[in-house]
Amino acid sequence: MKIFLGPAGNCATAEDRTTLGSFRKIKELKLNAQEIEFVRKVYVTEKTAPEIWKKSKELGISLTTHAPYAINLCSNAKSIVENSKRMLLESLRISEMIGSECVAAHIAYYSGLSPEQAIKKLKSNLKDIFDKMKQNGIKNVKLGLETMARISQFGNLDEIIKVCKEVKGVVPYIDWCHIFVRNNGNINYSEVFDKLEILKLDHIYSHFSNSKYNTISGKFVDVHVPMNSNPSFEPLAKEILKRKIDITIISESPILEEDSIIMKETFEKLGYKFS
Ligand SMILES: [Zn+2]
Repeated sequence: MKIFLGPAGNCATAEDRTTLGSFRKIKELKLNAQEIEFVRKVYVTEKTAPEIWKKSKELGISLTTHAPYAINLCSNAKSIVENSKRMLLESLRISEMIGSECVAAHIAYYSGLSPEQAIKKLKSNLKDIFDKMKQNGIKNVKLGLETMARISQFGNLDEIIKVCKEVKGVVPYIDWCHIFVRNNGNINYSEVFDKLEILKLDHIYSHFSNSKYNTISGKFVDVHVPMNSNPSFEPLAKEILKRKIDITIISESPILEEDSIIMKETFEKLGYKFS
């Protein structure tokens, strides 16, 4: 088993705030992963991609990517769907070039569709994306469908597993915090891993952060805060070690790599050795 830990985006504490500067900081902190954030736009170009590929390989940093937020493959507006496909494809194309293993995507809103209708529409649009990936020779990077927090967003755990089961080449991107928020502040890590078994994944990609509690509504909301215990990290680490799961856990905490270090220390305290 192998565990990969690192921040979502460039290290906040790196002096050199570029992607390559962040990689050096990750190495210095003895972490081993980073997510490249294309959330506003795909900022890496064909020209800069080879350098990122080379440096990450040289330093042993495993990469994932986050696709732009403005994606909705279930929109009623054809232009939004087409634009979403274009953004996803561009994220996948550049991710392939930098050697990223998986692109996390907030794939859709229900947009007035029932879950079944949304799945049908998604499957057809995902097929178009895979056809284009094939045409463009994109064959290594995976498309990861993220588990989402808000009820307007497609993607509770069961829905994501259903799509991944039916569409070859799509994998779940587990956002632990989103599952916790969607379930009103509850998560059973063991149950999540049990449910995922049907997909026979050889590696699990995931995000971890903690969520804010809104004292007025009495609910947890999809706002990330530094690690406290909503949800707790240690039971997740224990479950991963018990099941010997290969996993990437990207910290989406506001203090990014500082929480990755806490995750690393938690695994080490439980007996895992990072090589
Ligand atoms: Zn996300």
